[in-house]
Amino acid sequence: MELPYFSEEHQLLRDMVADFARNEVAPVTDELDRDGRFPAELVAKMAELGLMGIPIPQEYDGAGMDTVSYSIAVHELAKVDASLAITAAAHISLGTMPILLFGNEEQKKKYLPVLATGKMLGAFGLTEPGAGSDAGATQTRAHRQGDRFVVTGEKAFCTNAGQAGVIVFTARLIDDGEDQGISAFLVEKDTPGLRLGKPEKKMGWRASDTRSLYFEELELPTQNLLGKPARGFSQFLETLAGGRISVGALSLGTGEGAYELALKYASEREAFGQKIGQFQAVRFNLADMATQLEAARHLVYHASWLKDQGRSVIKSAAMAKLYASELAMRIAIDAIQIHGGYGYIREYQVERFFRDAKVLEIGEGTSEIQRMIIARAILEEAQRI
Ligand SMILES: Cc1cc2nc3c(=O)[nH]c(=O)nc-3n(C[C@H](O)[C@H](O)[C@H](O)COP(=O)(O)OP(=O)(O)OC[C@H]3O[C@@H](n4cnc5c(N)ncnc54)[C@H](O)[C@@H]3O)c2cc1C
Repeated sequence: MELPYFSEEHQLLRDMVADFARNEVAPVTDELDRDGRFPAELVAKMAELGLMGIPIPQEYDGAGMDTVSYSIAVHELAKVDASLAITAAAHISLGTMPILLFGNEEQKKKYLPVLATGKMLGAFGLTEPGAGSDAGATQTRAHRQGDRFVVTGEKAFCTNAGQAGVIVFTARLIDDGEDQGISAFLVEKDTPGLRLGKPEKKMGWRASDTRSLYFEELELPTQNLLGKPARGFSQFLETLAGGRISVGALSLGTGEGAYELALKYASEREAFGQKIGQFQAVRFNLADMATQLEAARHLVYHASWLKDQGRSVIKSAAMAKLYASELAMRIAIDAIQIHGGYGYIREYQVERFFRDAKVLEIGEGTSEIQRMIIARAILEEAQRI
């Protein structure tokens, strides 16, 4: 059944991305995961298909489509390859959106067309070794010195960092020795003073690029400030609220991918003279997966639709991300159980979904942080009544 949020255009997009994922990505997914290789050639194909700038306005060479479309693309990619889905989602939600939302016209004209067409990848450096959930504890400092900023500090876990042409990052702006608060900045690759760490060796998302960034007396012209000085904290909260919808879509795809493998296996594998899908324990497990995936689908697309209506998505994005990510993890565990011993073997693919699912409960705000956001929102709503 089609969701009420889906127009004919949405369905065409979904079919196009699903074809691409099935025909061009699926044949190489296992190899990319095994080798931990970033697939630049597939990212270039996604750019040709217009997938790297779906929600970016056409005036900046994006596809000018809505958030529902963007969620559809991430969802379909993640059913097959979560690494590729996070590469696109981090590029769009975290690397490109802050420039669209907070950049001045000069910055938008310079970066958005190359980002939206996928000629350049974007990344977002917020997390630091000592500031993850508690992002307000940011230690990276940008000292204003005349018409320059001199930046020192370190960022951890930056997705796409090794492939990106431009990185948005946060730092404390220090002016005349005074801490003005957290601000956002832009840095281009190969700028002297920017050093990239080695790719992290990860449990999952192995074909995506995650690294630390080191700012070693990095000099930036003052026009590389993004948005208003000292507004970096509220800017990244807004960026992450949008990003959480795409992590919800990514989680939905990851859960569905694992569920489809379990469903197929339950229809083929025999034990005690019958298909294991005939056993009530397995049937109930599959029924729960299908029901909960349906619920996650509604949460994710409802949050996407709300965003397209210009409504606040702080609570709905957190709910979609929390529910869909925890569901993806549960389904991946149960899908392995349905595969028995074969679920533990790489060849059967389901263990990749398990490894890819865990990070969904951590990145762009852990489950605990999502619960804090939801609790704050519902208690504020209750006070207004
Ligand atoms: C593969 C990967 C890609 C990533 N990509 C990016 C990226 O592109 N850009 C970026 O900036 N970051 C990125 N991150 C970082 C990610 O967003 C952080 O890891 C995450 O926000 C958690 O921060 P932390 O790791 O410092 O954990 P911590 O904040 O140290 O949390 C540790 C534990 O304590 C819990 N905790 C913390 N505070 C509270 C509290 N108040 N109440 C209850 N529990 C709490 C957490 O929920 C967690 O369980 C990525 C991470 C990974 C693993």
